[in-house]
Amino acid sequence: MQTVTMSQPPVFDKPKVELHVHLDGAIKLETILYYAKKRGIPLPANTVEELRDIIGMDEPLSLPGFLAKFGYYMPAIAGDREAIKRMAYEFVEMKAKEGVVYVEVRYSPHLLANSKVEPVPWNQAEGDLTPDEVVFLISQGLQEGERDFNVKVRSILCCVRHMPNWSPEVVELCKKYRQQMVVAIDLAGDETIEDSSLFPGHIQAYEEAVKSGIHRTVHAGEVGSAEIVQQAVDVLHTERIGHGYHAVENTALYDKLLEENMHFEVCPWSSYLTGAWKPDTLHAVIRFKDDKANYSLNTDDPLIFKSTIDTDYRMVKTQMGFTEDEFIRLNINAAKSSFLPDNEKKELLDQLYEAYQIPQPVSKDSPSVGVMLPPTQQSKREKLLIP
Ligand SMILES: [Zn+2]
Repeated sequence: MQTVTMSQPPVFDKPKVELHVHLDGAIKLETILYYAKKRGIPLPANTVEELRDIIGMDEPLSLPGFLAKFGYYMPAIAGDREAIKRMAYEFVEMKAKEGVVYVEVRYSPHLLANSKVEPVPWNQAEGDLTPDEVVFLISQGLQEGERDFNVKVRSILCCVRHMPNWSPEVVELCKKYRQQMVVAIDLAGDETIEDSSLFPGHIQAYEEAVKSGIHRTVHAGEVGSAEIVQQAVDVLHTERIGHGYHAVENTALYDKLLEENMHFEVCPWSSYLTGAWKPDTLHAVIRFKDDKANYSLNTDDPLIFKSTIDTDYRMVKTQMGFTEDEFIRLNINAAKSSFLPDNEKKELLDQLYEAYQIPQPVSKDSPSVGVMLPPTQQSKREKLLIP
């Protein structure tokens, strides 16, 4: 077999912004094998190729089938300080190679801990690694990665739908580590668990996030209905929506989200493999494109989907006709919808404008006011609808 995809140049070979990727869904296979062996934890495979075949997906699977993948490899990493920090560091290296210049990476601190977490996940024996220390270690690994690979990284801490008793601690960790990479809270897991957006633990955590100025995103409308999106907006006061595909099924809600410029974190290849999108239907991302909605393209769980960010760009380009101009527009929107403070957001935007050769508006206070942009550059701004 030829490895054609590996040698192809990326379909969008310019700086990219990624806002929705799970750290525990983006681990190197070699690292999983290394720590399983070192720690004497059984894996269902002995080589990278075998492990890729077991963890990776080529065809759509049900949600339980997808979630079972984590059960294979998380025991090799969870509870081990060195493994956790290395996973974070290597993630940044991976993103640098993909041409991502800014990434917000998310994880559940509790799912990597083995102490002060009830129940202890992945059938681990109780140890001494707390969710708090997990955040400390990952922040360190990400910071060292930032330094070595020249990618700007921030993190998002996940609540888990079926574990509302963890959520109040998640928001406290967001507050404690806000100066060290953590910018937001998320709600992940099975959104079809009835009324899970309304579990008091989650509501309490999101209310505290609003009060404390912690940014908020929620997985909603991926496989769940538009109603889950509505709850994420109304009850959890989310500022972005993870996936959100099914929002388009409720016209009143969708129109309101468009009007409010809500950001959708779209994961195209993931949506195919998880069955969130059925290939015989119109993909919501085509609606988002046609309606000039605010959205980004993201990998979600590249370890399981055997993907890089190029897989997602390639899918929408080759199967849905996305253009370079749309890629530029969506990356600028992703930067604008990032959870960075305003001054850092401006820096990121300036970096993108320069890379995309988009002239910046001349400030009224600037001494160079009155300088006209060449007509070609002006029309580029207009075409991309950049204010
Ligand atoms: Zn996700």
